[in-house]
Amino acid sequence: MTKNPTKNQTTDSLHTVWENGGFLGLVCKACDHRAVLDRSAMPIIRWNNMTPLRSLTFRCGSCGASGKGPEHWTMFLPMDAEQARRFVSGYDDVQRADI
Ligand SMILES: [Zn+2]
Repeated sequence: MTKNPTKNQTTDSLHTVWENGGFLGLVCKACDHRAVLDRSAMPIIRWNNMTPLRSLTFRCGSCGASGKGPEHWTMFLPMDAEQARRFVSGYDDVQRADI
C-alpha cells in the first residue's frame, strides 16, 4: 500500500548507511563481537535502498548467532574507514543507528 517508501521510514535504512559514508557497524548481542560491513562487502548499501536495517539478517562471524533486528544486533554508522577501525577496536564514539 505504500506509495512513497522513501518518506515513511522512522528507522535507519541502507540508504542512511550510504548517505553516512557507506559503513555499517554491528555489535553481536550474544557475544559482543564487532564487525563493520562496507559497500564492497555489502553492495546493497546504495543510494535510495530504503530497506530498513532491522529487516536484514546477519550472522555473527565469532559465535555464529544469526538473526535480525535490535534483539540480535546493535548497529552503528561510522563516518569513514578510520572511525570504522576505531569502532571495531572497541571505541564507542560512533553514531548509533536507529533500528
Ligand atoms: Zn556473536
